[in-house]
Amino acid sequence: MKRALAVAAAVVAAACGSSSPSSPSSSSSSNALSATSSFTISLQSVSMTANTVVFNWTSTGATTYKMMIGTTSGASDLLNADVTGTTYTWTGPRTANIFYARVAPTSGGQTGTASTELPVFTIDMRYVIDALYFGYGPMSQSTAQPAGSAQAAIWADGSTINVIVTEESGTLSLDAARTFVTDYLAAMSNHITINVTTTSTTWTGVALNAIPLDTVVVRVDNTVCPQVGVIACAYYGPLPYGAGRSSVNLNAAPTATTPGGSVAIAHEIGHAFGLHHLVVGSSVRPEFRFLMNPALLVSQLSTVEKAAMAAARAGGMRNGWIRSQAVAAGLVFAQANPAYMPTPASLIPTLNDIIESVVIK
Ligand SMILES: [Zn+2]
Repeated sequence: MKRALAVAAAVVAAACGSSSPSSPSSSSSSNALSATSSFTISLQSVSMTANTVVFNWTSTGATTYKMMIGTTSGASDLLNADVTGTTYTWTGPRTANIFYARVAPTSGGQTGTASTELPVFTIDMRYVIDALYFGYGPMSQSTAQPAGSAQAAIWADGSTINVIVTEESGTLSLDAARTFVTDYLAAMSNHITINVTTTSTTWTGVALNAIPLDTVVVRVDNTVCPQVGVIACAYYGPLPYGAGRSSVNLNAAPTATTPGGSVAIAHEIGHAFGLHHLVVGSSVRPEFRFLMNPALLVSQLSTVEKAAMAAARAGGMRNGWIRSQAVAAGLVFAQANPAYMPTPASLIPTLNDIIESVVIK
């Protein structure tokens, strides 16, 4: 089984710069109860127990504010808190949902005009783990209900895995492989040893079963993923799900002006290490930009992915685990797509930005 990376026609919109008109007048007086501006979400952390969301806003001159969060637009049934300063950290539910947040200045018992309301999209970590380890659930590409016997692909504890990046694959590929390995080992509590080396041998044309066990070769070889538009692909590696070895195959070597498949090295090594796609329609906020998204949004593991891997590890997920074990450990839902749960794909609107010009199949 292999996954392929394709590049759609690259469309990079040039930003139209327009200088702001010079303003001859400005207000020198401040009104503490005027509407709070620049209300933003600066950070969202996802754990097994909660979504922690950090809000920031610009001071209106007031020293106190009322922070309001509701389950419907305009409501404050979840939170109605007095806040000093211009930041608030909210511990939201663990489940996937949309909530509505706004903030207003307060003074002398009066509440001023509220800010623009922000939708907060919370992510359920169990969906992230299901997608990454089993390829099921509302954040995966599969709508099927998985069998309890579905396997997770994880290198066995104590293994030594050799990642060989051919010189032909370029220094960007080597650098990307090293960064991925550092992030991966930290998230997985160093459960294996990984050696990253480079070689002048091209490895081109070497069959998968001729690659040594516990080895991932990153090479230029355009015979493995011939689909139109594909720039790279990889096999799932770890036994027993995979063949115990893998190759990441670039369809062309990077050049001085074209990074080619090197932009997808960490994503493809993710597949070689057993990770499946993690899909979400939006990339408007950094917390939704996943390495394993089939739209190539970032080039290394995201904070959410690393947190999911650490949570799965802490929950007992190991080489050879099947999905029913993950269900019993509370790491995934018994049903991949419970009808009563909102799904991230339906909650989070699809938004486009420049980096979505690169699409992974
Ligand atoms: Zn992929």
